Amino acid sequence: MNRGRSVDAFERAKRVIPGGVNSTVRAFKGVGGTPVFVAHASGCTLVDVDANAYVDYVMSWGPLIVGHAHPAVVEAVRDAATRGTSYGAPTEVESALAELVVAMVPSAEKVRFCSSGGEATTFALRLARGITGRSGVVKFAGCYHGSVDPFLVSAGSSALTIGLPDSAGVPANATADTLVAPYNDLAAVRALFEARGRDLAAVIVEPYVGNMGLVLPRPGFLAGLRALCSEFAALLIFDEVMTGFRVAPGGAQEREGIRPDITTLGKILGGGLPVGAVAGPAALLDHFTPDGDVFQAGTLSGNPLAMAAGLATLTELRRPGVYERLETAGSRFTQGLDAVFGAHGVAHQSTFRGSMVGFFFADEPVTDLVSAKRADTRLYARFFHAMLDRGVYLAPSQFEAGFLSLAHDDAAIDRTIAAADEALAAITAAV
Ligand SMILES: *Cc1c(COP(=O)(O)O)cnc(C)c1O
Repeated sequence: MNRGRSVDAFERAKRVIPGGVNSTVRAFKGVGGTPVFVAHASGCTLVDVDANAYVDYVMSWGPLIVGHAHPAVVEAVRDAATRGTSYGAPTEVESALAELVVAMVPSAEKVRFCSSGGEATTFALRLARGITGRSGVVKFAGCYHGSVDPFLVSAGSSALTIGLPDSAGVPANATADTLVAPYNDLAAVRALFEARGRDLAAVIVEPYVGNMGLVLPRPGFLAGLRALCSEFAALLIFDEVMTGFRVAPGGAQEREGIRPDITTLGKILGGGLPVGAVAGPAALLDHFTPDGDVFQAGTLSGNPLAMAAGLATLTELRRPGVYERLETAGSRFTQGLDAVFGAHGVAHQSTFRGSMVGFFFADEPVTDLVSAKRADTRLYARFFHAMLDRGVYLAPSQFEAGFLSLAHDDAAIDRTIAAADEALAAITAAV
């Protein structure tokens, strides 16, 4: 497979863009080699600048649950653009999208839109601190809440991929109130509450972690967090930027039957355009300015193009049978890979929730960051490149979830499984 033009494009980019990319994980540091430069995409297919086609399992890192360039989304964005791209004044489409969010997400009565997931978690934390008058926040090692200072402690996603869980330039006082516990370790959270309970504003958690690979909660973990927060009058923040509208219409909170106090959303909510949101009961959300005293603002917040793309995406997701189809696709992908890994004697841990999938090359179950880090990242890098050469675009890191969409039909999934079989045969032959 010739990728000469991507190589040239990367050289050009590196001259004017740090590292050649505008978001760290895109640089392929976790797997080596040159990033694929995209020319266009449609459905589940990504086409690079050398005209190579790939079945895409990154899907813009989650937003594209209805597929690339879905006609309804394209039409909505085109239509909105003809009426102006931004006004900085309220529009009716913001209420229409907020009404859909309220209809779909169990804990949401009101929604405040912003422009990214990281903004949403920042505003959610400010809201929790403003409401409680406390400053401490508990996060979990390996969870990622955006590229924002208070959460860049033991963070997942690209921060983890480059082996730098923390960042230079984050002053100690920005994270002084951030306490870190191992995911799935309720006793550790209880200990933090017993030590600092009256100072803790919130616990923030990815209910299903998608940013250290896919790691699921043990039975009782999320319910335990709910109970601890209630006991100590702290707020429970579910960061559903990834899981929202992905694992069920109402996200992980619907699937698990747990009511968080505050929910952060993004990704699918913007249908591929920049969006974030904070959602929750009116009694909490009304603390935001102008009615309350927790300040929030954004020049492009509730942007009409992004609202239109989100509205079109959520409307597609409300069609009957959609989530059953996504669940079936996730299951077909995971079972197919399991069979191939098994046939080649490759130790692996795989799981899925709906169309969110994950596999680790690891001997032991992965339940937290420590066990995730035991995965064989060298084997992942070889598998990644062998798959890329066979027309499958997986996440360029062991520590990311994979995403299917309504456009991933059986034929695409089966081609992927066949490619995995060939890839592993090539890898084991080369050893
Ligand atoms: C992607 C993600 C974010 C950050 O969203 P951005 O739009 O990249 O700022 C926050 N939390 C979770 C759980 C995410 O997956």
